[in-house]
Amino acid sequence: MKIKKGDKVRVLTGKDKGREGEVMHVFPHTNKVIVDRVNVVKKHTKATKAMMQGGIIDKDMPVNASNVAIVCSSCGPTRISYELSDSSKKRVCGKCGGDL
Ligand SMILES: [Zn+2]
Repeated sequence: MKIKKGDKVRVLTGKDKGREGEVMHVFPHTNKVIVDRVNVVKKHTKATKAMMQGGIIDKDMPVNASNVAIVCSSCGPTRISYELSDSSKKRVCGKCGGDL
């Protein structure tokens, strides 16, 4: 999975298309990510001991990682490519080659 927690991404499809946010969580097994303030649903919660009042909370739901693109600080949404050096590989922008 190329996207990592903390990456800035733009949503490519769906109701939040065009929105940008930070990746809060990645789920490598299902290839999904949670992006801050993207795919928010209203969840109705019941009153519990921990939360005395029931009510409606906003919850960020996972979106498919293929529906978001990483955002390069100089060229915007882009593809991730890798630059191989002696000991490691570095993630770079597929357009400008800058660090991601
Ligand atoms: Zn770039």
